[in-house]
This record gives sequence, C-alpha cells and structure tokens, in this order.
Amino acid sequence: KRKNKHAKKKPRVDFTKIDPSLLPTVILVGRPNVGKSALFNRREALVYNTPDDHVTRDIREGIAKLGDLRFRVLDSAGLETEATSGSILSRTTDMTANVLARSQFAILLIDVRDGLQPLDLEVGKWLRRHAHGIRTIVAMNKSESLDEQGSLTAEAGQAYTLGFGDPIAISAETGFGMAELYENLRPLLEDYILQRPEDEHAHDDTYPEMEDNGECKSPLQLAIVGRPNVGKSTLLNALLQEERVLVGPESGLTRDSIRTQFTFEERTVYLVDTAGWLLRAGKEKGPASLSVMQSRKNLMRAHVIALVLDAEEIAKTKTSLKHAEVLIARRAVDEGRALVVIVNKMDLLWGRRSTMIREKVINAVPKEIQMVIPQITGIPVVFVSALEGKGRVAVMHQVVDAYQKWCLRLPTARLNRWLRKVMSRHSWRDQATQPKIKYFTQVKARPPTFVAFLSGKMQLSDTDIRFLTKSLKEDFDLGGIPIRITQRSIP
Ligand code: GDP
Ligand code: GDP
Repeated sequence: KRKNKHAKKKPRVDFTKIDPSLLPTVILVGRPNVGKSALFNRREALVYNTPDDHVTRDIREGIAKLGDLRFRVLDSAGLETEATSGSILSRTTDMTANVLARSQFAILLIDVRDGLQPLDLEVGKWLRRHAHGIRTIVAMNKSESLDEQGSLTAEAGQAYTLGFGDPIAISAETGFGMAELYENLRPLLEDYILQRPEDEHAHDDTYPEMEDNGECKSPLQLAIVGRPNVGKSTLLNALLQEERVLVGPESGLTRDSIRTQFTFEERTVYLVDTAGWLLRAGKEKGPASLSVMQSRKNLMRAHVIALVLDAEEIAKTKTSLKHAEVLIARRAVDEGRALVVIVNKMDLLWGRRSTMIREKVINAVPKEIQMVIPQITGIPVVFVSALEGKGRVAVMHQVVDAYQKWCLRLPTARLNRWLRKVMSRHSWRDQATQPKIKYFTQVKARPPTFVAFLSGKMQLSDTDIRFLTKSLKEDFDLGGIPIRITQRSIP
C-alpha cells in the first residue's frame, strides 16, 4: 500500500475564525426580478452592515453564512433603480467599477422559469467587460420544482452559452441547491484565503513588478482634497487639460455629485467628487449634513487621495499642516487609502523668496507628515505650481505609482522566502516566548493585507507587527501605502 506523495493535503480553512474585513466578497448580479434580494435575504444572520446604510440605497452588504462558510455578500439590486432596460448597465460604470473592485467572486442569477433572456446575456457581457478576474458562478434560481423533477430544463442548458461554466440549480425561496452552491463556492473561497503556495509566480524571485496585475485594471479613483483656496480647482483643471468629460449627475445613482474622468498615459482616472468635505464637515445638520456624509463617503471610495497644501501658507507658519489637514490625512490612511501630498503654489517661493524659505518648506513637509502619521513611512510629497501648469506629470506619476503599490499582490511562496530571511534579523524578546509563524500570506490587495498564521499559543506583539510592516515596506518598496497585518492561530 503506497501513499500518494503528490496528493498534498490542503489545510481546511475555518472561515468562522477569519476577521470579517478579510473575508472574500461575493457580489450577486442579474437582471431585475431573478431573485437577488431573495438570495441576499437568505443569509442566516446579518453580522455586519455598512455604516452609512441610511445614506445609500445603492448597494446592500452583509456577511453570509452558508454552512461553515463565511463571506461578504453584496446585493447589486440597488444598481438598477431605474432599470427598465439594460441600458442602465452601461450608464453606471463608475459606480459598478467601484462595487466590482470590492468583489472577488460573483453569482450570476438567472430565472429558470423564463429561460435565458437577452438581458441575461447583456448582464453576462457586462460582467465580463468590467469584472476582470472575478470568478463567476451561474445559478439558475427558482428551480424548486426541480427538487421533484431532478433534471435541468432545456432553458437551463442555455445558460452554458454565458460561458461561465456549469450552472447550478437553486431556489432562493426554499433553499434548494444551497448544498451545491456551498460545494462550488468552498474551494474558490478557500483558495482565495490560502493564496496557495503553488501560485503561478512561485519560483519567480525577482523584484515585484510594478505593473498591472489584474487588481489594477479597474479605473483609478482619485480624490483631490484640501482646505479652500489651496488650489484644488486649479490643479484639477491642469490635470484635465482639454479632455474634460463630465458625467452625470444621474438621479438616484450619483446624487448631487458630478463625475469627471480623464486619461493619463492610457489609464482612465475617475475624479471622486468631494466638494465641501473640509469646508462643511460637522457644521451642518439635516439635508446639508447628508450631503457632507455623501461627500465623505465618496472620499472613502477613492483609491488614492491627493491632499493639497499651500506652499505660501506653509512658508508663513511654523507648522506645515493645519488641524483639518492632519485629520484628513489620518482618516485617509485609517481607511486604507493611498495618500499623496501635493504642495502647491511653489511658484510663489521660486520667484521672490529666498532659497532659505523654499528649502524650509521642502524639508519641513515630509518630516511633519511623518510625525503626524508615524505608522506610514515614505508618503510621497510632490511640489508643484498648478497655476503655471508645472507638476501635472509628477503628480500623476506619484498617483499612479501609489495606486499600483496599493494593488500589489505578492505570491505566498515569495513572501515566505522573504519571511525566513527577515525573521532571522528580528530581535525577539526571548527564545522561549518566540511565536512561530507557520506561513505568511497576502489575503487581499487594495490595500495590501497580510495574515500571519501562527502555530502554538504565542502571539505576535505590536513590536513584531511593526517590524514586519516596516520590513515589508522596505523590501517591497511599499512606502506610503497603508499595509495591514493580522494574525491567526492554526492548530
Ligand atoms: P431581484 O430583483 O433580483 O432582487 O429579485 P427579487 O429577490 O426581488 O425576486 C423577484 C421575485 O421572484 C419575487 O417575487 C420573489 O418572491 C421571487 N423569487 C425569488 N426567488 C425565488 C425562488 O427561488 N423561487 C420562486 N418561485 N420565486 C422566487
Ligand atoms: P480651491 O479653493 O482649493 O479650489 O482653490 P482654487 O483653485 O480656486 O485657487 C485659489 C486661488 O489660488 C486662486 O486665486 C488661484 O489662482 C490661486 N492658485 C492656485 N494654484 C496656484 C499656484 O500654483 N500658484 C499661485 N501663485 N496661485 C495659485
């Protein structure tokens, strides 16, 4: 009796022990009335809800329990408020790009009783166009009568033509087919959590390439923020140049916000509208404060946040950052956004002022940012003059660079080789209480999020986590990017 040496045993993931923020996200899509809401509502219990649920009816989010599986689930039903036809799908691209960027998996629902409709095909096409790399499972809903009949109808067979593989039959109403959904989802979600070491790049030990890795394919969402009069609008116009495109406002979808987009080196950049955020935050009640919340929410939809400062003001004062600016920078980082700091109006210092003042500003800003956000080293600072149109390219290079780092995925095998080297450099408190990291894996990008799997009872201390974070930043050039590391014990 020989043992099969090649059958490597995969560790079984216990989803109930994973931090909800690290769980994979599954989005429910499909034309109206196929049963997305019904399926969403089947979740056995709502553990988590988006904090600004009362502001948005665009999208519902919750934690799904399917047996011992746990995942985040998004109901896209809200995206079709005006959907009498499929045309809405093409009009909500920024919105959906956003939502899709948060999802790793999709369940595409079809109504088995209607068979495959043209709109189903359109949804399928749309998903393929916008959901780069999102694994999709097709579910034929309302199949409860199959429970007795036991075979897929001819209509269901057509679902193969969507090109997402074998459809499964379910009933959101009766729960029929949930076991099959479980069987189909479990390996996908498990692979996502484990990012299996037999990763395709496992043996590629070179420096990670800063180029699109799929995670970066969705359009970059940029927010330009700062106090009044620092030059945000001027900078915006410089970035847009002549290619200003205004989209919206679309009632019910984008509210009062106006979406603007431009391209930089063949990359689409969406400008996230944040009008009034610093100006009005917290000062108003009622509808006005709702719009502040909306702009705050918009802000946190941004991938990269560009905080604009006024060089002349900095030259005049002792501290570079005003209170409001410190708050916004901290919030951006706390929310896991990539931060780029832009010091505008440098022309005023290049011109009349002495080099001393100029140098004071150039030295002071990065130092002070480091002081107020000590957890993130290397936040990029760009010195520009929006008025003279100087710095557009520099700003955009920093923004794109920050975005690519924010999207970076490091293969598990490379991370673990790195870990072995780096841990030998770390001075542990003492050998006896030294925690054992079994393996280290990136569970999420945007921002890069890592989990250290520990064997035994010892936990990583804050110092250990800081050491790991700092080393990751230095060794993989992730300066300015909020990196998250959590730990989990495995038996
Ligand atoms: P959505 O627009 O995709 O969110 O669809 P809904 O969840 O609102 O469902 C549309 C209609 O289909 C509702 O009347 C549901 O009661 C019904 N429905 C949903 N799932 C099932 C199912 O599995 N079987 C049957 N027979 N009806 C269902
Ligand atoms: P916002 O309130 O942040 O959008 O600021 P604006 O873009 O409206 O600019 C406020 C003022 O600063 C305007 O008078 C601009 O002309 C001026 N300004 C903007 N950028 C520059 C710059 O790079 N240099 C100089 N000297 N003035 C600037």
